[in-house]
Amino acid sequence: MSDLLARHRAVIPNWVALYYNEPIEIVSGKGNRVVDAEGRTYLDFFAGILTNMIGYDVAEVREAVERQLRTGVVHTSTVYLLRGQVELAEKIARLSGIEDAKVFFTNSGTEANETALLLATYARKTDQVLAMRQSYHGRSFGAISVTSNRTWKNNSLSPLQVHFLHGADKHLSRFRDLSDADYIKVCVEDLRHLLATATSKDVAALIAEPIQGVGGFTMAPDGLFAAYKEVLDEEGIYFISDEVQTGWGRTGQSFFGIQNHGVTPDMMTFAKGLGNGFAVGGVVARGELLDALHAVGLSTFGGNPISMAAANATLDYVLDHDLQANAAKTGEIIIGGLKAAAGRFPILADVRGKGLMFAIELQDPATGEPSPQIAARMMEETKKGGLLAGKGGLYGNTLRMAPPLTLTVEEAHEGLGILLAALETVNEEVSK
Ligand code: PMP
Repeated sequence: MSDLLARHRAVIPNWVALYYNEPIEIVSGKGNRVVDAEGRTYLDFFAGILTNMIGYDVAEVREAVERQLRTGVVHTSTVYLLRGQVELAEKIARLSGIEDAKVFFTNSGTEANETALLLATYARKTDQVLAMRQSYHGRSFGAISVTSNRTWKNNSLSPLQVHFLHGADKHLSRFRDLSDADYIKVCVEDLRHLLATATSKDVAALIAEPIQGVGGFTMAPDGLFAAYKEVLDEEGIYFISDEVQTGWGRTGQSFFGIQNHGVTPDMMTFAKGLGNGFAVGGVVARGELLDALHAVGLSTFGGNPISMAAANATLDYVLDHDLQANAAKTGEIIIGGLKAAAGRFPILADVRGKGLMFAIELQDPATGEPSPQIAARMMEETKKGGLLAGKGGLYGNTLRMAPPLTLTVEEAHEGLGILLAALETVNEEVSK
């Protein structure tokens, strides 16, 4: 065990996840690559868990932050006018597609979801909430309440009454053999039944990830969210789209993940990549909803000038370089390449994704059962090949990847090559 790992184990809680048999320390980064303490370079297909949306050491972001630092003001207080906040809120409100939108900034996705849940429950005067099976929304009391992924869920004393809906869990459920259309019918009937029998109908909101991140990039079939939205609208229930992983063009086809489903949500929450490494999160929602709290509130560091400088520069970069189109193009190289090769690897249960958000699911080739062991081997093998990936899925048997949106065509081919070589090696090992 390295000295740093031993010290980490001594002072950091044991539930903080660390990847790899020998965890790595990232000491520098440039473009879409990072270097560890031993001098090994990796193509970053996890981009620090989607934090580095446009890669590392980006001049535009560095200069924007340096400019702010040179003013002498790292932060004052959010009780004063903050130009960067107003500018960023204007951009996000415009991009959201939500009418008369306003924005509240936080420091993380957890806080963003906590805020959205507070707004919805307050506006509807109820503690009843709907969420999706296999979801992950954060680790505070409210956010854990709406998380159903068992790996990440503590037995919290939930402040909310939460009912979990079917959606992205089709392939793991007893509904797996249904067509998408029939599955959607079952899901909607289930929602109606639940509202009629398990709630007093005054439900505040449904919170959902358009593509479940921690869940292993699992997706609800096209049409499901639109069908849910119809029922929610009948009952006046808000739709909160958690865009922490799916926002800013990552899915290629649309700027926010939920727009792939033709649904305009009442609120969206965001975080992670927007600051390209600097802490920023927030909620965008119709103004009347964001104005619904009657008590004064602020976040001391939410929307601070440094994070705003970084986030404004990052968002401008994404728009100026049309990185949404780049995500569609480079993502297709990788997803298409993996799908084309899938038949060669019996350990591969599924290839899925949209744009630069894609995953491979691993199975025991003999039984077809989810195999976290094979996924762990794939993690080690891709690392050996010089590529960082993430682990996820209900059974820990999925490699999920979300490279920076700045990924080049050459890097897409390079990453695909590393993934295919790792599949080759591990598949051969398993079939011996
Ligand atoms: N929502 C989703 C969809 C997430 O993936 C995450 C983080 N993995 C969160 C919320 C929580 O964000 P944070 O870790 O910034 O609190």
